[in-house]
Amino acid sequence: MQLRVPGPTPCPNEVLQAMSRQMIGHRGKEFGELMRHITDGLKKAFQTKNDVLILTNAGTGGLEAAVVNMLSPGDKVLSVSCGVFAERFADIATQYGAEVDHIRFEWGEASDPDVVRQRLQNNTNYKAVLVTQNETSTGVTDDIASLAKVIKEHDKLMLVDAVSGLGAIDLPVDEWQCDVVVTGSQKAWMIPPGLSMISVSEKAWQAYKEAKMPRYYFDLGKAKTFLEKDQTPWTPAVSLFYGLEAALELMEAEGLANVFARHTKVATTIRSGLKSMGLSLFPKNESIASDSVTAVRVPEGVDVNKLRQVLREDYSLFIAGGQQKLGGKIFRIGHLGWVTEKDAEEILASVKGALPKVGFSPR
Ligand SMILES: *Cc1c(COP(=O)(O)O)cnc(C)c1O
Repeated sequence: MQLRVPGPTPCPNEVLQAMSRQMIGHRGKEFGELMRHITDGLKKAFQTKNDVLILTNAGTGGLEAAVVNMLSPGDKVLSVSCGVFAERFADIATQYGAEVDHIRFEWGEASDPDVVRQRLQNNTNYKAVLVTQNETSTGVTDDIASLAKVIKEHDKLMLVDAVSGLGAIDLPVDEWQCDVVVTGSQKAWMIPPGLSMISVSEKAWQAYKEAKMPRYYFDLGKAKTFLEKDQTPWTPAVSLFYGLEAALELMEAEGLANVFARHTKVATTIRSGLKSMGLSLFPKNESIASDSVTAVRVPEGVDVNKLRQVLREDYSLFIAGGQQKLGGKIFRIGHLGWVTEKDAEEILASVKGALPKVGFSPR
């Protein structure tokens, strides 16, 4: 089965083999070496000198950690949103008592940094701004460089959901001064679900000192204290750490710039192939289309569940549908992590073969 949803993504054999190793104690020397090795590798992939902490939980747990460690109940927060995942990030902040204002862009569009600038000029009392690098629900990548510039002009704390983008799409954390950046293991990192990785800037640690939201498992201060001993505060998913070490070695061998270039190439192939069949992309224009997930409009008269079923049963290709109000309207192909040009060609051939069976004749 070709698993091509925007997470979980397939794992290379090197990762699967690494994960089959016997357990080690997470307070021992061997684990310490593993932890140090992974942390160094992650810093390179995040392009940061900031602390990078590894938490055992889904990506959403990483987002929750970003919120509860940086904010206090009653803090004013600005959410910049163009899809489902940005809404989730904002929702977490609301649940913990932040006063969240929203700038909502139409789904399929990118966030407009000028609109954000206007808001920050008119409201100076925001503590933090929440942004999403890659909106997995709509297949749109936001211009984080420009958003960061605006947010930093106003000296606000910047919390970034980079769950489905980091490791696939360039995000130089230090250069763009991103304070807290969250990613998830099952997306670009070529390992199974279960870890979130989160970078924390100096400015963010200052915010941490004042932040009063309740936290325990997700306390990043505890994670930092234990990181100084090459450990985690709680029992980590040791097997996933083995896998992450192997995956980071693969990424390092390929070279980060080449990893990003491969994603761009694969995504370009997928997009142009789909368009040449007569399909149209969901993002408003191709310049904002994501290099890790492609969202495609379901053609008139086609049942997307039927299309997904035919792809699964006849072509061994598993793709995603749309979320929430996009259900039935789009389908999404994940092409992040362990993915090649050859995979892209296979995906296109399968889609082309399946479309006539659901009533659409590709060009
Ligand atoms: C997948 C994803 C998440 C959530 O990750 P989980 O591991 O499912 O909790 C959050 N944000 C974005 C942008 C994602 O793609």
